[in-house]
Amino acid sequence: MKAYEATQIYFNRAADLMDLSDNMRRLLSISSREIQVQIPVELDNGEIATFVGYRVQHDDARGPMKGGLRYHPAVDLDEVRALATLMTWKTAVVNIPYGGAKGGVAIDPRTHSPRELELITRKFVDQIHDVIGPDTDIPAPDMGTGAQEMAWFLNQYEKYHGYSPACVTGKPVELHGAEGREEATGRGVGILAFKLISRLGRKPAKTRVAIQGFGNVGSFAAAFLAESDFKVVAISDISGAYFRAEGIDISAALRHARENRGVLEGLAATEKITNAELLEADVDVLIPAALGGVITEENAPRIKAPIIIEAANGPITPGADAMLHDRETLVLPDILANAGGVTVSYFEWVQNRQHYNWGISRVRQELDRVMSESFERVWELSQERGVSLRTAAYIIGIGRVGRATVLGGIR
Ligand code: NAD
Repeated sequence: MKAYEATQIYFNRAADLMDLSDNMRRLLSISSREIQVQIPVELDNGEIATFVGYRVQHDDARGPMKGGLRYHPAVDLDEVRALATLMTWKTAVVNIPYGGAKGGVAIDPRTHSPRELELITRKFVDQIHDVIGPDTDIPAPDMGTGAQEMAWFLNQYEKYHGYSPACVTGKPVELHGAEGREEATGRGVGILAFKLISRLGRKPAKTRVAIQGFGNVGSFAAAFLAESDFKVVAISDISGAYFRAEGIDISAALRHARENRGVLEGLAATEKITNAELLEADVDVLIPAALGGVITEENAPRIKAPIIIEAANGPITPGADAMLHDRETLVLPDILANAGGVTVSYFEWVQNRQHYNWGISRVRQELDRVMSESFERVWELSQERGVSLRTAAYIIGIGRVGRATVLGGIR
């Protein structure tokens, strides 16, 4: 099943419970704009390569559209469309004044030099700069991109439009970025893990966690959880998975990754297992924080964790989600679980527009407030209506976007 079809299953499930009309469903399902662009680049070896980039702007009823920019070989229009719709519901669930968008370029960033990545980023901006902007659509980092790509993005956008620090978020702190943005998604995952297990009467020290992916989201989630006394027993990345029943020394893992171009290969004092084994490990909390579609109907019956926190976007297929629901596995959905990133992106945008730096303490405090309030709202609605946390989050998100659409009127 393609990614967009999967997100529409969740959308329709919530829409059915809300008695949403067919006309409103159609309006909220079709993207506002979808762009595909050609990115020709001269590679370091002198050859010309042509890449394909996408930007999908899904909905702007609640504010400028917001969403990351992904560099990954599997990027295509369907995936970007699915991720753009998720952003619309996500910004609404955490109640920040944005709509949803997403972008991507179908490349494997690990196979390109910094010079090539800079050229790809700048050429992409050349192609889309006139349809994005601080009041229209604001990109941010996602898989395969980070602060450096955002800095190139800003610089290229400003060549056309002049000083515009708020045109993109996730920038380096030295270049109008916000302290706390880099850690925000992982930290948000950690905050929610803590809230969720507290609700269930569990203590962090007695909670074993496995995390798939040790990039931006996975590594900061691991750091926050380890500092909060959780026992992180398994971590992984593209090189494989690493297990230690007594708990992995996360500071040592972070150091190891820093010294090895971000990769965990060769991590000392751990047993090497596969990514498939990590997903099926005997743990209390499983946090997929890498790719979409990793928990499927095939491996769902073997997943032992009673709690799954979707740090990645769309890590569970709808078929697997139904199986896990029947088994009463608690799933904290992506549109809430990884919303810490877009929330602090919003704080960065606000600071850029205020020309005033909040500092890390205020950013963390406000993030904690937004994530906690959003969690409580989703939890309460799920209890009230007897629905999953995912359906409750969708009902809240769709409800807010739908009301804004109706109130604004369609003329
Ligand atoms: P990243 O590129 O920084 O890290 C990805 C990690 O996944 C790396 O450790 C990589 O080695 C690992 N990985 C890649 N392929 C793998 C595989 N086949 N098996 C196991 N591990 C694999 O990306 P990120 O920014 O951390 O994003 C991860 C997920 O979180 C994505 O789904 C993304 O959409 C989502 N997300 C990110 C943000 C953000 O602020 N960065 C915000 C919301 C959601």
